Amino acid sequence: MSELSYVTGDRHSAWSTYLTQVERVLPLLGDLSRWADTLTHPKRALIVDIPLEMDDGTVRHFEGYRVQHNLSRGPGKGGVRFHPDVTLQEVMALSAWMTVKCAALNLPFGGAKGGVRVDPTTLSHKELERLTRRYTSEIGTMIGPQQDIPAPDVGTNAQVMAWMMDTWSMNVGATTTGVVTGKPVHLGGSLGRVKATGRGVFVTGCSVAAKLGIDVASSRVAVQGFGNVGSVSAELFHALGAKVVAVQDHKATLYLASGLDIPALQAWQQTHGTIAGFAAADHIADEHFWTQPYDILVPAALEGQITAERANLLQCRLIIEGANGPTLPEADDILQQRGIAVVPDVIANAGGVTVSYFEWVQDFSSFFWSEEEINQRLDSIMQHAIETVWQKADMLNVTLRTAAYAVACERILLARKDRGLYP
Ligand code: NAD
Repeated sequence: MSELSYVTGDRHSAWSTYLTQVERVLPLLGDLSRWADTLTHPKRALIVDIPLEMDDGTVRHFEGYRVQHNLSRGPGKGGVRFHPDVTLQEVMALSAWMTVKCAALNLPFGGAKGGVRVDPTTLSHKELERLTRRYTSEIGTMIGPQQDIPAPDVGTNAQVMAWMMDTWSMNVGATTTGVVTGKPVHLGGSLGRVKATGRGVFVTGCSVAAKLGIDVASSRVAVQGFGNVGSVSAELFHALGAKVVAVQDHKATLYLASGLDIPALQAWQQTHGTIAGFAAADHIADEHFWTQPYDILVPAALEGQITAERANLLQCRLIIEGANGPTLPEADDILQQRGIAVVPDVIANAGGVTVSYFEWVQDFSSFFWSEEEINQRLDSIMQHAIETVWQKADMLNVTLRTAAYAVACERILLARKDRGLYP
C-alpha cells in the first residue's frame, strides 16, 4: 500500500483512504502523473513529547504531531486536533486532505495538520493551557506565518489558538497574529470564521442539491456531529425551512420526524456539552441513525463513519461531507452504484480554510473586513469551486470526489513540476 516505513497496513485507516483516493485520480493526470509520488510522501513530520504538570502535582506525558504534507503551492495550512485517538497516520491523512483542499479551492497554501493524543475534556482550563503552550513551543520551529499556519480542529477552539499565538509570539519576541487562524476576533481573528465551515457545507450542498432537483427548503436532513461544523450546518438548513430530523453526537442520537428545534438544541448542547438528554426529541439507538429516510445527510464528526455496510443501508439522495474523510473508499463505490451523490470533504468543508485564508490576509495587512464582505467572498469562492468540480465530473464522467482530486492534483503537480527539484 505504501513504501513508507512508518505506515502500517490498516486498510481502514485515514491514510489508506487517502491513498486510494489518489490512486483513483492517477489515470486522469496525463504527463503530470510523473510527479504523483509527491502526493503520497509527506514532506515533513515531527513527533513531540509533551510533559505536563497536572493540577494535582503529578506529571503526565502526551504525544503530539505536526505534519507538513506538501508545500509546493505555499505555506502549510491545517488545524490542530486534540483527541484521544489521534495518531501520526491520522495526522498525515488530515494534512494530505488539506493539500488537496487548498488546491481544489485555489488557495495559495500547501497542506499541514497537527494533533495531540489527549482527551481535552479531562483537563482543567489551566492544564489545557499548559499543554497547548508546550505543544506550540515543541512545534515552534516548524510553524510561522510564512511557513505553516495552524487553526482549530476537533477538540481545539479560538482560546487554544490565542494561547498558540501568544506562545509563538513570546518565543520570537514579537506579536505575530498571522501565525495561527481561528483566533478570537479581538486578537486578529476574522469575522465569520466560526460559522465558515458550516456555511460552506450549506452553500456547496445547496448548489449540488439544486442540480439534482432536490428542494432543500422542503427536505429532510440528518447531521452526525453537533460541534462547530455540524451545529452550524444544521442551523442553516433549519433556517431555510428544511426539517433536520436526526442529529447524532458522541453520546446520543436524536430523532424527530417533524424536525428538531435546532436553536433550542444548540442552547442545550452549549450548556451540557452534548445533545444527550434533550427532551423535545426521541432518543434512538445510534445505529438507527444510518437507516432512516433522509434527503440530505451531513456527516460532520470523524473519519471512517460511512462504511460499506452503512452505505448499503442509507436511504438518502445526497451526502455533504462536513467531516474530513467520513466515507471509506468501498462505501464510495456503493454510493456511486446506488446513485447517492457525495459532495466531497475537500470541497464541502473548505469554508473554514477559506475564511482562515481571509484571516491570514487581514493579519498581514492589519486591515479588517466586514462580516458581509467575508460572507460574500466566501460564498463566491465556494460556488465557483463546486461549479468547477461539477463540470469536471461531467466532462470526465467520474464522481465529484475524483473530479475534485483531478482539479486539485493538476494544480499541485503543476506547481511541483514548474518549481523543479532542489538540488
Ligand atoms: P467539534 O469538536 O466541534 O465537534 C465534533 C462533533 O462530533 C461533536 O458533536 C462530537 O460529539 C461528535 N462526535 C465525536 N465522535 C463521534 C462519534 N463517534 N459519533 C458521533 N458523533 C461524534 O469538531 P468540528 O470542528 O465540528 O469538526 C468536525 C469534523 O469537521 C472533523 O472531521 C474536522 O476535521 C472537520 N472540519 C472541521 C473544520 C472546522 O473549521 N472546525 C473545518 C474543516 C473540517
